[in-house]
Amino acid sequence: MAENLKSPLPDPQPSDRPPARQLPEYLPARMLNEFVYCPRLFFYEWVDALFAHNADTVEGALRHEKIEGKEDALPSPDGEERFHSRSVTLSSERFGLIAKIDLVEGEGEKATPVDYKKGRPAETPEGPAAWPADRVQICAQALVLRDNGYRCDEGIVYYDATRQRVRVPIDEALVTETLEALEAAKALAASGEIPPPLVDSPKCPRCSLVSICLPDETNLCAATDALVAGRQLELFPDSPESPPFPYLPAEPRRLVPARDDLRPLYVTGHGLTIGKTGEVLRIKDREKVVQEVRMNEISQVNVFGNVQLTASALQGLCWAEKPIAHFSYGGWFYGLTTGLGLKNVFLRRAQFARASDREFRLGVSRSLVASKIRNQRTLLMRNHVEPPALVLRQLKHYAELAESAESTEELLGIEGVAARLYFQHFSGMIKREPEDTDPAFSFEFEKRNRRPPVDPVNALLSFAYALLTKDLTIVCHTIGFDPFLGFFHEPRFGRPALALDLMEGFRPLVADSVVITALNTRMVTSEDFVRVGPAVALKARGRKAFLRAYEQRMDTLVTHPAFGYRVNYRRVLEIQARLLARVVTGELSRYAGFETR
Ligand code: SF4
Repeated sequence: MAENLKSPLPDPQPSDRPPARQLPEYLPARMLNEFVYCPRLFFYEWVDALFAHNADTVEGALRHEKIEGKEDALPSPDGEERFHSRSVTLSSERFGLIAKIDLVEGEGEKATPVDYKKGRPAETPEGPAAWPADRVQICAQALVLRDNGYRCDEGIVYYDATRQRVRVPIDEALVTETLEALEAAKALAASGEIPPPLVDSPKCPRCSLVSICLPDETNLCAATDALVAGRQLELFPDSPESPPFPYLPAEPRRLVPARDDLRPLYVTGHGLTIGKTGEVLRIKDREKVVQEVRMNEISQVNVFGNVQLTASALQGLCWAEKPIAHFSYGGWFYGLTTGLGLKNVFLRRAQFARASDREFRLGVSRSLVASKIRNQRTLLMRNHVEPPALVLRQLKHYAELAESAESTEELLGIEGVAARLYFQHFSGMIKREPEDTDPAFSFEFEKRNRRPPVDPVNALLSFAYALLTKDLTIVCHTIGFDPFLGFFHEPRFGRPALALDLMEGFRPLVADSVVITALNTRMVTSEDFVRVGPAVALKARGRKAFLRAYEQRMDTLVTHPAFGYRVNYRRVLEIQARLLARVVTGELSRYAGFETR
């Protein structure tokens, strides 16, 4: 049966519970396997309709595709001939089960389901045995066969890694275990409440949904929530008589890859065309191919200005769930083309409900703003030629004020004052060289200006924020959030308010930091700008160099302050957004912004 369900997660509040969901009447036998493996995995796949491939599931899917290509009819149980039917789909009204059986072997009324598995069997003193989840799945297939008139006394699980057939007797005990699992799975689906992650389970590293589930991170945050809630109840928290703090799990394992193998593609040339041949994108300048990129090596496509996409390229990118971000030639992010993406709407429903909850919005906003101010302070400490002690003290104070702000208006005021103070000292982080003498393109910086930016530093800051907005808008789509409904930023036409919310703490850490690095390392120089009317913009070479600097920053490994492992910034954006999603759905009670030391 299902593994350890104990977790330090707090009980969800009744008001957090989503209503029961309408699910198909018949439960697939494969889903029973998932339920026994991990109820949370079952919930993600069956209730939330989430699925992600890993190496194991890709191989499994390919193998099933081969088998499913040869669907055979199952002879009637009244016949007498021997049969060998592949990819048979049957259902049972009595049990509310449906099963797609890889192979049914039999003779007359006697039928034996055979299920193919990629891995190896369990090792027991009695020899190879089927895993509990596989036993329940094969039993569910047997029950469906029985309900269709066949006699089914055993099933066979074939393990490809060891090429062994393991026989599973369909006895009373297994039938009872399977029917109990079926009832429990249906009850869980109807409850609409996602179960907590397994605790320190060896199953998680092999799970295809591990980077969505974040088991150890979710358990740690939930335990920290409980700890904080416990402390608030203590009258004398530092007293030696204080009871021990709630259990904190061991340091989270880094089960998500530190960085993606896939890279964003940027297409910035004027008049280029992106076409697709097979699985390769071909970028052409008129008839000449200037670059070829394999679709399975990219994560997204960014096009600047007048770049055409053929229908085939658009269709291929949408099918492959590779978003296309559209920028004006000047670097203004104005659109996103995506495939259908996530098919579930439950997170969005919770997001809309939370957006009208004033207390919830304020709680999240406090954390977003406090993290931003602390990260601004860290950036000044690290990069300013002479870190201004008074300003650092003031920023620390503003971050503390943000944490206890009593209204969004007060928070906006604190954020504005802190931002002014920070940007007043921003120029102290830019190293000037004697050659930067042209007043039009010197890297003097007084304050933020935009639409249009009138000096090079502001031009770079605006471009960096546009890139970061784009990346967080994509993250919101990936996770299932509506990027246009935020908690701190008010909804406004065409403004991805939630992406801007999530961006707050990362403005200094990613965007401002890229600008400082690009200027201080001379990746971008005064030669790379052009003035058009009052506006200053990047030339083509400068834009390319800055995009390189931005990608380098996104790929920089950083230690997650709460989890202690190192991942790149691109990964951190997704982890933080997933944690916010847990808070929105009520699985966690408070959002902690990302802060570096
Ligand atoms: S990562 Fe672990 S807890 Fe999460 S769904 Fe997979 S097996 Fe379950």
